[in-house]
Amino acid sequence: MQTTLKHDIAMVGTGLHSGRPARIVLHPATDGGIRFRRVDITDRDNVIPARWDMVTDTTLCTLLSNEAGVSVGTVEHLMAALAGTGVTHALVDIDGPEIPIMDGSAQRFVRAILRTGLAPVAGPLRAIRVLAPVRFEQGAVLAELTPADTLSIDFEIDFADKAIGRQARALTMENGTFVHELADCRTFCRAEEVETMRAHGLALGGSLDNAVVVDGDRVLNPGGLRRSDEFVRHKMLDALGDLALAGAPILGAYRGVRAGHGATNRLLRQLYATPGSWEWVTLDAETAAHLPGAGVGRADLRRAG
Ligand SMILES: [Zn+2]
Repeated sequence: MQTTLKHDIAMVGTGLHSGRPARIVLHPATDGGIRFRRVDITDRDNVIPARWDMVTDTTLCTLLSNEAGVSVGTVEHLMAALAGTGVTHALVDIDGPEIPIMDGSAQRFVRAILRTGLAPVAGPLRAIRVLAPVRFEQGAVLAELTPADTLSIDFEIDFADKAIGRQARALTMENGTFVHELADCRTFCRAEEVETMRAHGLALGGSLDNAVVVDGDRVLNPGGLRRSDEFVRHKMLDALGDLALAGAPILGAYRGVRAGHGATNRLLRQLYATPGSWEWVTLDAETAAHLPGAGVGRADLRRAG
């Protein structure tokens, strides 16, 4: 079943890179998938579909731009929250260039969506079934999709920083796994990178309240980590958000090794550029029951981190 939100959801926060306050309002929609609308821009087309082919920058976050040059950045955590709770249609109004970072995870978006609830949208739900392996590889970076009946995410990271090190985890994205296992895992960076980014006018809104900051073998946040392998879990959260830009749920197994937003987007481009690597399928109830957001509801609030 296609779904949307029962009611509007308004949230305020700060842009991680701009440091500017931003307000978003998630509106129910009955078609069009997930779309962003820059309400502060009125002299051009201000609607940006949340789609892989609108991705124009992945340096520090996933940034989408439309043909009029109107863009919205840091969409990945909100996209993960929408995919992980099963929202297929919504119009997201934003009054600036960057989705607020909130606490650095998808937790606040997920909680707001679960509290508001979902409404069905008439019409069958289509998904993208992976038929043949596709991969993007560059040096030590790998992102690949292989055929599977349910979306799974298998991720591996290997950082020289002792506080992070090598972490690997694989999870099938069903039975509310995203909400229970990944949604509360925060973005992270090195203390030494913070000064460099600020010198370049980036991460101006960053703080220990919205990112895990590591320095060698230490985590600088007073509260420490939320999970012992929070780092790799956040990368899995990012992967779900970036895969949600496929335009429909994916039935396939994703594997990422040191992959970032750019690698996952290149993988989606590879998928769409490879004839015979995927097909549209109309989901029956049985298959739809295994989607990332299937069966997730208010009862999951206490387990949403
Ligand atoms: Zn992230």
